[in-house]
Amino acid sequence: MIEPSLLQVRGLSKTYQNRTGLFRRQAVEAIKPLSFDLEVGQTLAIVGEAGSGKSTLARILAGMIEPTSGDIAIDGQLMVHGDYQTRCKLLRMIFQDPNTSLNRKIRVGQILETPLRLNTEMTEEERREKVVQTLRMVGMLPDHALFYPQMLSSGQQQRVALARALVLSPGLLLLDEPLSALDALVRTHLRSEIRALQQRLGITTIMVTHDQEEAMTM
Ligand code: ADP
Ligand code: MG
Repeated sequence: MIEPSLLQVRGLSKTYQNRTGLFRRQAVEAIKPLSFDLEVGQTLAIVGEAGSGKSTLARILAGMIEPTSGDIAIDGQLMVHGDYQTRCKLLRMIFQDPNTSLNRKIRVGQILETPLRLNTEMTEEERREKVVQTLRMVGMLPDHALFYPQMLSSGQQQRVALARALVLSPGLLLLDEPLSALDALVRTHLRSEIRALQQRLGITTIMVTHDQEEAMTM
């Protein structure tokens, strides 16, 4: 039997219906029907200018918005819109702006522990262990578990977002311009760390960027 690709996308499209007046609607075709496969261990870069539909594609893959048409299968399993439980164990996403993607009222430790509590059978002790291990993996310290996101630099916040994405050990990591809100120096640093992690964990990655050069180095 032939193994299915890790990710199979078939005829995926999205048209937004924007209200332009009381009775008027304008259709914005954000993604034209799109099909592709991604194999285990591969990295796919999605490159395009602003407004070309990159985030729309990423959000559809992450299950946050419903496609107008098309199917997504991960590990041969057809994704159902709204079934976030199944999807979050298979695919996790990191967003452009850590400031809005992390809840600033929740401590880092809890941000990382919640997905474990909701999606695994781990004991409290095992969860604590996993949180510390994941923080270390992204270059943070165990004590950072006690911090609130706004006490961290944006580079550190993006590390927390990375930790949150990796804590459930998903097969697929989806990054939507994760470095664009960061200073040049932090960006260079974090880019090479993400790449090292990717290689070490052998994690399949989809990288969204508007920067062609960045796409080439991921
Ligand atoms: P990118 O991430 O490549 O900049 P987006 O996927 O954010 O592109 O946007 C693609 C197009 O869809 C743009 O024309 C944008 O204005 C439109 N769009 C994005 N999100 C929405 C939305 N929630 N409602 C209506 N139109 C949207
Ligand atoms: Mg975008």
